[in-house]
Amino acid sequence: MSGYVVGLTGGIASGKSEVSRRFEALGIVVADADLAARAVVAVGSPALARIAQRFGAQVLQADGSLDRAQLRARVFADPAERRALEAITHPAIRELMQAQCRQAESAYAIAAIPLLAEVGGRQAYPWLDRIVVVDAPVAVQHARLMQRDGADARLAQQMIDAQASREQRLALAEDVVVNDGHPDALQAQVEALHRQYLAAAAQRS
Ligand code: ADP
Repeated sequence: MSGYVVGLTGGIASGKSEVSRRFEALGIVVADADLAARAVVAVGSPALARIAQRFGAQVLQADGSLDRAQLRARVFADPAERRALEAITHPAIRELMQAQCRQAESAYAIAAIPLLAEVGGRQAYPWLDRIVVVDAPVAVQHARLMQRDGADARLAQQMIDAQASREQRLALAEDVVVNDGHPDALQAQVEALHRQYLAAAAQRS
């Protein structure tokens, strides 16, 4: 049981996965919101049943699983439809993440939530004890996106612009991992935070 939970966020290609991996290598359980978002709409889940009820059987494939492309097309250009979908999925994602963190066998747990700033920050996740932001300058995010995803310059910029701003994310941060240089520079920062979180978790329990 983990009684101390750290929320980890950062902009696209800021290095969240890289940082998460390093915490995991130290034995810390990381609950991933992207994985949770898939798990809560698995075949047989209450959320999938509600989606089918709200959006119709067209958003299901023949095997009963979610037709993501169909659903995306339905909500893409319609904010009201998108909100209706999120009203079904977001509470389920938050609940699953919280359960995974509480059940974690490590001294503390990390909830990796890429879109934490976009979904309402701490208000949406009041059970986070601490928030750490992985931060990189926009130009660095842009270059990594082009390299990692093969995005062209315009698409990379659109992906960045579609997210909360760097300032909005940093406003949530109690801790910051600066990832603007060599990946090796991450290790000392992660280890320092790890010691800090271990101490905070020990104090809590
Ligand atoms: P996120 O999970 O935030 O989207 P990633 O951890 O996947 O970001 O990092 C984005 C890309 O940039 C990956 O290809 C990763 O290997 C690379 N990357 C991350 N940090 C650095 C760094 N300090 N220097 C160079 N490349 C990096």
